[in-house]
Amino acid sequence: MWVVFLTISEVSDILLRLFTYSEEKMDSIPFAMPQDFTLSLARAHLNQGQWFIFSKQLMLVSEEGKRIPKTANLPSLREVYVGYFKGESCFAAEIAEDVQAPSGWMWSCFRSLHGVLPKEEYALAGRALQLLEWDRTHTYCGTCGQKTFPRKEERCRECSSCGQLAYPKLAPAIMALVQREEKILLARGSHFPQNMYSVLAGYLDVGETLEQCVVREVQEEVGLKVGNVRYMGSQPWPFTGSLMVGFACDWLEGDIIKDPLEIEEAGWFARDELPIIPTEVSLAYWLIDSWKRGRLPS
Ligand SMILES: [Zn+2]
Repeated sequence: MWVVFLTISEVSDILLRLFTYSEEKMDSIPFAMPQDFTLSLARAHLNQGQWFIFSKQLMLVSEEGKRIPKTANLPSLREVYVGYFKGESCFAAEIAEDVQAPSGWMWSCFRSLHGVLPKEEYALAGRALQLLEWDRTHTYCGTCGQKTFPRKEERCRECSSCGQLAYPKLAPAIMALVQREEKILLARGSHFPQNMYSVLAGYLDVGETLEQCVVREVQEEVGLKVGNVRYMGSQPWPFTGSLMVGFACDWLEGDIIKDPLEIEEAGWFARDELPIIPTEVSLAYWLIDSWKRGRLPS
């Protein structure tokens, strides 16, 4: 038996971290994969399980209580199997833009459902949205142009002519929280909501590591040299089929030189002078908030 003595401050720090983790993150995505990826979509299943129904980025929820439908009685453009959740099958369906919501139901912007739907359901809905987009954009083979069909044994579409396989793909992107003494670098792009600032972000290039991507993006966007790149956390970002990977890093040298194509404004901010930052739905908020609470890894 091991006995470990901890100081009160160490214990409170651990409890704080545990509390924060369970409050802000899920330990695992709450689904199990199906044994068969196509059988589950037989008509007999359409009145079972849970349905994540989208029209573009609008999601069908009940007007009262924002519940998710149990059936899919709407003409759908495509359907995919999402997985098992709490013993029930979960499906996703894409509906044409001009279809009215049934009585008692409404189309709601998916992003606005963060904090409204239970956390697990919101995560599954994001997964459903990405799977629908993958299915839509891989109806035809990228090699020979012929029709593809879903494979039974795995999440994959196979070309009916040349056999090319298409798996769901993600675009990894980094977020970089740059720290300089007691301040962090925040910037705003021209497409940002008014007065909102965030950490720097950019897509991973072919052949580079995530850490190299952090160094390059910061150099390109604000002309600073950074180092001591530390992994912080990640977040699926269904709106663009991305995986956001968050890092903290330290300023090493240089003054801010903005890339005029990407950055409208950039500056150093102390804890008590933070501007408007992204909402809790994004990893950027979590990175900034972690710094604000003094929880960056060294
Ligand atoms: Zn093909």
